[in-house]
Amino acid sequence: MPSLDSLLAEELRGLEEAGLLRALVPLDGGCDAEVEVDGRRHLLLSSNNYLGLAGHPALRAAAREAVDRWGCGAGSSRLIAGHFALHGDLEAALARFKGTAAALVFPSGYQANIGTIGALVARGDHVFSDELNHASIIDGCRLSRATVHVYPHGDVATLRRQLAGSPPSGRLIVTDSVFSMDGDRAPLRDLSALAREYHSILMIDEAHATGCLGAHGAGLAEDEGLTDAIDVHMGTLGKALGAAGAYIAGSRPLVDLVVNRARSFVFTTGLAPAVAAAARAALDVVAREPERRARLRANADRLRTGLRALGLDARGDTHIVPVVVGDNRAAVALAEALRRRGVLAHPIRPPTVPPGTARLRVTPMASHTTAQIDHALLAFAEAARETGIPR
Ligand SMILES: *Cc1c(COP(=O)(O)O)cnc(C)c1O
Repeated sequence: MPSLDSLLAEELRGLEEAGLLRALVPLDGGCDAEVEVDGRRHLLLSSNNYLGLAGHPALRAAAREAVDRWGCGAGSSRLIAGHFALHGDLEAALARFKGTAAALVFPSGYQANIGTIGALVARGDHVFSDELNHASIIDGCRLSRATVHVYPHGDVATLRRQLAGSPPSGRLIVTDSVFSMDGDRAPLRDLSALAREYHSILMIDEAHATGCLGAHGAGLAEDEGLTDAIDVHMGTLGKALGAAGAYIAGSRPLVDLVVNRARSFVFTTGLAPAVAAAARAALDVVAREPERRARLRANADRLRTGLRALGLDARGDTHIVPVVVGDNRAAVALAEALRRRGVLAHPIRPPTVPPGTARLRVTPMASHTTAQIDHALLAFAEAARETGIPR
C-alpha cells in the first residue's frame, strides 16, 4: 500500500505538470504599495487593499485602542456572549454608509455569502447565479440545496428565460457587482428590473466595489442610484476597507432573519474587537478622504491604457485590471519575469477562472504614485518581451 504522503505527492505533481500548483509567498511586512519579499522591495500590484487603508494610522490607532478596551477576542458567538457595543456601532455605521435600515457583520465574506444565501433559500427554491460569481456565492448556492440556474456572464436575456420558466415564488438572483477576476460590472439596472418583474430577491456582492465606487464609496448600487432596488447588499471589510470581515445590509427583517438562520453567523465567534474597530475607523476615512477613490481610479486608468499600448489584453473598466494571457504556464512565466523586475502581479489560473483564460490580476492602489505605475509598465514591457507575450 502506498503511504498517504506518497499519494498526496502524486496529486501535487499532477497540479505542477498542469501549471496549477499554488504555494504561499511570505511577505516581510504589511500589505502596502511596496512590500518586502526575500529581502527585496517589490511593487505590489496584487492586493485588494485598494485604498491603502490596511496600514492607515487611523485604523492602526482604532485597533490598538480596541485591544486596550475590549481585549483580543470576542470570546464566543455573537448570539451567546460575543456581541459587544462595538459590533453594534459598526453595524449602525454600515447601515448609514449603505443607506439601508440595518446591517450585520460576519467574520468573513465567505461566511456572509454562504450564510445569507442559505438563510434566504432552501430545497425547492430557485437561485439564479452569474457564471463568474465568486466561489463563496457558488458554495452558498450549493449548500442551500436550492435548484441553481447559472446564467452566462451578464446575460440578462438568458436570465429572463430562466426566470420565466421557474415557479413564481422562492427565487433569488445573486451576482457580484464588480467581478473580482474580470474587473467589469454587473448590469444592475437590468437585474433589478428583472427582479421586480419576476418577484425575485436580488442580492449583490460588493466585495470589490465597497469603498471604491459611488459618490460616497458605498459601491456600485450607490453609483447607479439603485440602493433601494437591491434587497441584500453584501460587501467585505477586508478589501478596500483595510480590516477583515464582511457585512450584509438591508431591511431590519432581513437582518433579523439572517441572525436566526445563517449557520455561518450563529456558529462562529464574533469579529475580534481590533478588527471591528479598524473597520469602523475605515468608514470615517472613506468619508473624509474621497481623493483616495479618485487616485485609485486614475492609477487604474493609467495602467490599463499603458498595458493595452504594449499589446497586452488588459480588460475590465474598474480598478481591477486583468491581463489575460490564456495558457497557465505562460501566465506563471510572465508573473515570474515581473517578479525578477521587482513587481508582484499574481497569476490567476483555473479553477478561479475558466480554463484557457489564465491571467495576471493587476490591481493598483490609491497609495501608488504615478512614478510607481510607470515603473510597473516598464517592467511589463520587458517581461512581455522576454516571455513572448502576446504571441
Ligand atoms: C473576497 C471575496 C469574498 C470573500 O470575502 P472574505 O472576507 O475574503 O472571505 C466574497 N465575494 C467576493 C466577490 C470576493 O472577492
